[in-house]
Amino acid sequence: MPTPQPTTDTPPLTAQERRRLQADLAHQLRPMIEPFTSHEPWYRWDDTDHRWENMPAGLHTTELPSLLEQLQHATKQANGSTSGGYQSTVLAHTDAIDGQRSIDHDVTAFVSGKLHTQPGPLEANLALIIRRIPTLVDADLLELAALAKRWVIAAKVLSGLDARPWAPHNRCPWCSAMDSLRIRFDVSGQLGVGWCKECKETWDENQIWMLGAEIKKQNAEGVDEDDADGEDDDAVEDDA
Ligand SMILES: [Zn+2]
Repeated sequence: MPTPQPTTDTPPLTAQERRRLQADLAHQLRPMIEPFTSHEPWYRWDDTDHRWENMPAGLHTTELPSLLEQLQHATKQANGSTSGGYQSTVLAHTDAIDGQRSIDHDVTAFVSGKLHTQPGPLEANLALIIRRIPTLVDADLLELAALAKRWVIAAKVLSGLDARPWAPHNRCPWCSAMDSLRIRFDVSGQLGVGWCKECKETWDENQIWMLGAEIKKQNAEGVDEDDADGEDDDAVEDDA
């Protein structure tokens, strides 16, 4: 089916196009402010034919912090000490600050210019834009589509430049050490790699979903702050 070519005089969107664009925009923008789950297909190696099977064998599911949270994490490094850092690292941090400032500028302009509302902090502004998507006229909807793509990709790329990996306040599932996990997110695949600085266990792109699931489970159950006693009987529930 041929893709319709854009023309200089853009015709108004059909009701179906409008609904699809609204849904796409909300889907694109929500990960900016909400933690999100990434589903990546994975493929099985066929030993007989020595090739990857054509059909995905399943989906890897990974829990990630919001893109803004990841970006803010990257910008914080720039305000901190640069001792031991390389010039390229400092530049990467500066890029993250510039990127966040540019997103903030665009978002603020859209909130005041198109939504006619007094802008607040970046996260609140993005939440407002998402809520108001159904009320936007076609021209504003199309403009937001172009802007949203820019914001999301900038946040993804710049978060990936973060010099310090994410250190979740969790226990290593292997050695039970607290705060020992170091996780870096991959830019393109939305996956990542993980490493424990205590037991040196690693999680590659194909395994990171397991670590993500473990962290999610720990956070849901409440992270046990006490020293691990070695015994791990999950049958015992503690009220304290
Ligand atoms: Zn460990």
